[in-house]
Amino acid sequence: MRSIACGLATRGDAMIPDPQAMVFVPLGGTGEIGMNLNLYGHNGRWLMVDCGITFEHQAHSSSGRPSIQMADPQFIVSRRDTLDGLIITHAHEDHLGAVPYLWEKLRCPVYTTPFTASVLRRKTAWRGGDLPAELIEVDPHSRHQIGCFDVQWLPLTHSTAETCALAIGAGEYRILHTADWKIDARPVVGPPWRPEQWARHQLAGIDAVVCDSTNALKNGRSPTEGDVADGLLQTIAPLTGKVVIACFASNIARIQTALRVAHATGRRLGLLGRSLDNMYRCGLANALFHEDFRPIDSAHLEYLPDREVFALATGSQGEVGAVLHRLGLDNHRHLSVGDGDTVIFSAKTIPGNESAVARTIEALKDRGVSVVHADSSKKTLHASGHPCADELADLYRYLEPKLAVPVHGEAAHMKANATIARASGVPHALTGNNGDLFYLAPTPGIRRRWAETGRLEYTQEGQLRPMAE
Ligand SMILES: [Zn+2]
Ligand SMILES: [Zn+2]
Repeated sequence: MRSIACGLATRGDAMIPDPQAMVFVPLGGTGEIGMNLNLYGHNGRWLMVDCGITFEHQAHSSSGRPSIQMADPQFIVSRRDTLDGLIITHAHEDHLGAVPYLWEKLRCPVYTTPFTASVLRRKTAWRGGDLPAELIEVDPHSRHQIGCFDVQWLPLTHSTAETCALAIGAGEYRILHTADWKIDARPVVGPPWRPEQWARHQLAGIDAVVCDSTNALKNGRSPTEGDVADGLLQTIAPLTGKVVIACFASNIARIQTALRVAHATGRRLGLLGRSLDNMYRCGLANALFHEDFRPIDSAHLEYLPDREVFALATGSQGEVGAVLHRLGLDNHRHLSVGDGDTVIFSAKTIPGNESAVARTIEALKDRGVSVVHADSSKKTLHASGHPCADELADLYRYLEPKLAVPVHGEAAHMKANATIARASGVPHALTGNNGDLFYLAPTPGIRRRWAETGRLEYTQEGQLRPMAE
């Protein structure tokens, strides 16, 4: 292993990494799923990639609402003058949700694609907090010099629009930060993608791939959004009562699919829930929808005959106060469901939410509603946005990196990703945790517990409070 210069042994000290090396320091999202915050370092300068939140359900919460938590950025805040910029890879909460809360501490330029910038503006306006003074919109195919980092945006497929991997060059080194991705031949919104579409010359001799591990424990490949569109159309076409689909609001492809299914089955689509409405507007503002199909004003749903009623709704995780929860209580102002009607969960249940989802399903069934859930249906009614084992192998075999660094997962996911990388011909794979210093190039290595880490909670009073470890 390369010797570490500058006396880096002291936890949290002010020393910068070996200026000759390219290093990676995750402060959030490595060893856990959620609240991603990644740092790349070279020559005494830093580039941050993503700044997300996680929602934690608390047993003692009286409101039933989850607590908003994020990585404590103190390590980089205390060297803010060495931070060249922050890149947001895509519009999911675990990648951008903390920007309104933390930007004031960072005060660096923020770079992202136009759709993601729209989402960030809407979320900031809704939640309060600070919109970056410099919010720079970049084309998904473009290349920019950010301080000492040369960054190429590389669009790929994921479960929200305009997600990009980043090829990050510094000095003579070049690494790929994949962000979240999957291989999708029929993504419904945006072009299909597979690794071979990336030009060889752009990524030849890449030093390291820092890669999504979420589904590394799952064999095979994830279904496409096109498969989900087929499954939803087949499920809905024979139905004669009201139909409600619950999905993740950020899935623009799922909104597009619902618009097409409405058109194909003679139904009218209403969007129920503020986050869905916001995401639809962001998609529309960025011309992401293919046809001119439009949703109706959801206040008009109640005047339609049952066989024309179709709604896309929030609440697939059983969230208190979300639309499905209210439909179960029959207190939604624009829609009531009962005998002969169908609710389809076009989403997986995130671990930890099982009992809330079960309660929501029971409430709907008690009203006579037939409930179809993607997790138990034979038809494909949901597709994950993350790569399964065969997709990871495809990426490693095509890129032939010298090093793989699995992130975006718990220990078991990252270990499985590292095993796939080695089996796919990658000579080195390093797994670690938030706060570890990864040497990406020229010589792979790891220094454990190098940077201070922690969590901040955004309190009901609008304060950021450090959480006890
Ligand atoms: Zn993510
Ligand atoms: Zn994502």
